[in-house]
Amino acid sequence: MPKQGIIKTILARHKKDKSRLIEIVRDVQSALGWVPPAAVAEIAEALNVSKVDVEGVATFYHFFSGAPAGRYAVYLNDNFVAGMKGRAEIAAAFEKEAKCRFGETTADGLIGLHATSCIGMNDQEPSAIINGVVFTKLTKAKVKQIVAAMKAGRDMARLVTTCGDGANQSKLVRAMVTNNIRKKGPVILAPFKPGEAIRRAVTWTPEDVIAEIKRSNLLGRGGAGFPTGLKWDFCVQSQADRHYVVCNADEGEPGTFKDRVILTEQAHLLFEGMAVAGYAVGAKEGILYLRAEYAYLKNHLEHVLEALRKKAIIGRNAGGKKGFIFDIEIKMGAGAYICGEESALLESAEGKRGEPRDRPPFPVTYGYLGYPTTVNNIETLCAAARILAKGAGWFKTLGTAKSAGTKLLSVSGDCRKPGVYEVEFGLSLQKLLEMVGGRDAQAVQVGGPSGTCVSRGQFERRIGFEDLPTGGSIIVIGPHRDMFDVVHNFMDFFIEESCGWCAPCRVGNSLLKRKLEKIMSGKGTIRDLSDLESWGRIIKTMSRCGLGQTSPNPILTTLQNFRHLYESKVRHDTDFVTEFDLKAAVHAASGVTGQKLTEAHHE
Ligand code: SF4
Repeated sequence: MPKQGIIKTILARHKKDKSRLIEIVRDVQSALGWVPPAAVAEIAEALNVSKVDVEGVATFYHFFSGAPAGRYAVYLNDNFVAGMKGRAEIAAAFEKEAKCRFGETTADGLIGLHATSCIGMNDQEPSAIINGVVFTKLTKAKVKQIVAAMKAGRDMARLVTTCGDGANQSKLVRAMVTNNIRKKGPVILAPFKPGEAIRRAVTWTPEDVIAEIKRSNLLGRGGAGFPTGLKWDFCVQSQADRHYVVCNADEGEPGTFKDRVILTEQAHLLFEGMAVAGYAVGAKEGILYLRAEYAYLKNHLEHVLEALRKKAIIGRNAGGKKGFIFDIEIKMGAGAYICGEESALLESAEGKRGEPRDRPPFPVTYGYLGYPTTVNNIETLCAAARILAKGAGWFKTLGTAKSAGTKLLSVSGDCRKPGVYEVEFGLSLQKLLEMVGGRDAQAVQVGGPSGTCVSRGQFERRIGFEDLPTGGSIIVIGPHRDMFDVVHNFMDFFIEESCGWCAPCRVGNSLLKRKLEKIMSGKGTIRDLSDLESWGRIIKTMSRCGLGQTSPNPILTTLQNFRHLYESKVRHDTDFVTEFDLKAAVHAASGVTGQKLTEAHHE
């Protein structure tokens, strides 16, 4: 079929709906291996938007490319944990077998090698996504086999001969991913009978449902901990003829993968939580914003939704309540960490670049398509369903006074038992390390790069909003790791993921990284440490959204908790510009002047 025909078909499939622009560009990328200028022009004309709008989307997301990305596009995870587990060796094997470098596509356009930040598989690294198929625990031998299959024109899905556990084995998933559920708790991972929550909710008034959620002290599980009942209350109080429930299924913080497990095994609990939220805020429509890295779960999720419609848990007369309609649509992301921020997520769900909005107005008053919207995390919505089923009083018996309930943790790094753990809030890091087989850790990164790096002397600290809040990423860092490598990798991550809108984040993080590199090279002075602190504070204060406001944390928290390491690297006896390389400068000057200068000339 000619290219033009393909694009017309894709446009028709999405009813030329501009709020589906990301899905349209996704399909073009998947059909053609890139988004050529001609396709941009055709889409813009069909949707009656400017070419700049389409280009803006096509250049914003990791999984879109303006040049051929390869008929087989390899996206190899390059976050720090992947590095711990042998990522460099696997990258070298891909380059050797494919005969091209990362960031390039082979001359015949067959294979493209791309690095990507976190694909949600840190418990089974090294991992990669190739043409939508997830490959875990890669070895050099597997890489050889994969590249040979590409050269033979084989379908990547055919290489998945052994599937993981649970629903990973179902016909609709067939993934080699394993759940790695190490500890089940009573809120998220316990068995749940479909209908238990929504059927109870609809016997109450929406106000009573919100009151029950408030009574439970449920705080948003994304890490910020905003009270869920209050958020729903704000949303319902915003007068409009439509309200929306949006579920943020875009966990992108390096080291987090717990939502992957919920989506695989407990999607019915999540969707029921969305139905409860819909009833409470008066919404008829819910949107699951699914990160592109989990596209392999989409058919499975659609199947779960269909089963819930058949049981009248969602859809018409949802929960058995005559006249209550609530249905859920899945919208796909395309690879951008910033879309985990709720206003950026809404922009992306509307088919635009995922750039954060100015706030206020907040999404509860001006959200999806301008309507009042509650945006909740997957785990929060699951907890809400469980609270409706078992009661706020029961929920509050779990956890601590300020952090009720349980928390799902994605544990990875230098530990014997990486995986997903559902624990009650209040658990100390020491106890957690014993549980996961990471007793000799020198540090634990709690909450991913944007969180806190806790040193050994502070392992009595506890998981909870009153001490160590976390979206769920726990990276165990063993005694043999160089902490500067950790911090450097995290800074690279933020620089790569900054949307570039505001200068403190766009420029400031690069400056911080350069200063860090100066210290790492042994050319830093004691003054550089105070620069790092003051520049970091400026970036936190002046940045427009959560990404910039947390991006200096890897440096600031290690400066606080590992100061001795920084101090051992810097010179204490000088304030001179120690990184100035006299020899190199003289050499450069000789080139410019055409004279043979020596260091003696300089002196
Ligand atoms: Fe974009 Fe960073 Fe500014 Fe957020 S802080 S809007 S990610 S540039």
